[in-house]
Amino acid sequence: MASASQGTEVSEKISHPVADELFHYLRDVLYYPNRAQLDFASFPEDFREFGEGLVFFVEMLNESRALATALSRGDLSCPLPKPDNELASNLKSLHASLKHLTWQTRQVANGDYKQRIRFMGDFADSFNQMVVQLEERQDALLSEIETIQKQRRDLERSNNLFEIITSRLSEWIAVFDRNTGERLFINHPVEKLLANLSHEPRLYDILLSHIQQKEETDIQKSWAFSLVDDEVIQWFSATFYPLHWYGYEAMAAVLTDITASKAEIDKLEGVAYRDALTGKYNRHYGMNLFNEWIEQHRHFVVCFIDMDKLKYVNDVLGHAEGDRYILHVAKSLEAFSEEACLCRLGGDEFMVLAADFDQKAAEDRLEALRDCLVAEELTTQAGTPYRGSLSYGVVEVTTDNVLPASEILSQADERMYAYKKAHRMERRDTPA
Ligand code: GH3
Ligand code: MG
Repeated sequence: MASASQGTEVSEKISHPVADELFHYLRDVLYYPNRAQLDFASFPEDFREFGEGLVFFVEMLNESRALATALSRGDLSCPLPKPDNELASNLKSLHASLKHLTWQTRQVANGDYKQRIRFMGDFADSFNQMVVQLEERQDALLSEIETIQKQRRDLERSNNLFEIITSRLSEWIAVFDRNTGERLFINHPVEKLLANLSHEPRLYDILLSHIQQKEETDIQKSWAFSLVDDEVIQWFSATFYPLHWYGYEAMAAVLTDITASKAEIDKLEGVAYRDALTGKYNRHYGMNLFNEWIEQHRHFVVCFIDMDKLKYVNDVLGHAEGDRYILHVAKSLEAFSEEACLCRLGGDEFMVLAADFDQKAAEDRLEALRDCLVAEELTTQAGTPYRGSLSYGVVEVTTDNVLPASEILSQADERMYAYKKAHRMERRDTPA
């Protein structure tokens, strides 16, 4: 029954009308199932049961064919053959298995990796293997997520701790890009300060120019600087810490407001370095500077000055007048040079350290000051007139000097004494 023409040929050989009817019916069942009809009621009595059986068989066949077609299309929701359709029993069990597989796959998609397929040979092996791998991959992902979550919790904790610490610190912490000055981090005290003051751009300029000028090894030494805002000076001590942070060549600056302690230090320095009577630098300050200039191999002059006849003033005009005489000489010596350092070594002795003066220039200046002093008539508070005078000795210190300060000062003292001696006769002629 390969084609209709072959069927016609066969039907010509079979002359029985029932056989003919059956032949056409079976051909239609095979090729045109929608129009296949068998009117077995018109069959002779003996063939009716056969015809009825054949129609029943064809019904089962059609049901099986419909199911097979649906399965081949992946349609599992098609109507199933009747329960007594034995012809479709294997297809029905395949349908059931595929439905179960669909459910299992959905279970796997929802994370149930215990599902296994026990039929369908190689496909089952691959499916089961895939489920095992999915489970392993999920386990690995879960453990990775757990690690990341733990790291995140740790990071949050340390971030929180960092924020608490930096917000409670009274120090200012500012982190900036050391090449561009870009601000990378500031803590709360800096935020507060910058909100109130116009310091910000200048603050970074000052910090940047400091670190750009310094050698790397000197940057980390703490450094004091001041900011002026509305004529109010604030002093800060800054310590720098170079950092490599997220690709930035960063610099962390820790700043402390030292305005109060700076004022205290200045006051103490005033006490420590100043002479109480004259307000000029004292011996301690003068000798420190003297040694410093020697160490720096500077060229300068040292002038040793001793007032003349203070004892006389003390004895005759009173000690208080002696003090006024000291103050007057101190004031007169200020005119030596604005840049010079004038200090009272003690008693009636003064020292002047002056850079860029040579011996002659210094002596000329002192001689002129002495002349003025001698020419001026001083008066005691009681109205008694007297005249002051001084003697001096100058030593020029050159850049190749190897002598210590004490020795240079002794030389200046000796020259002062020689001067005093030389002018004593002269003073005798000029009553104090
Ligand atoms: P000369 O002209 O040779 O320098 O003698 P002088 O009278 O100036 O005395 P000298 O330099 O030898 O001694 C300084 C004197 O100054 C000794 C001391 O009594 C006195 N003196 C030291 N300190 C003070 C002070 O603070 N106030 C007063 N009024 N006198 C002082
Ligand atoms: Mg004297």
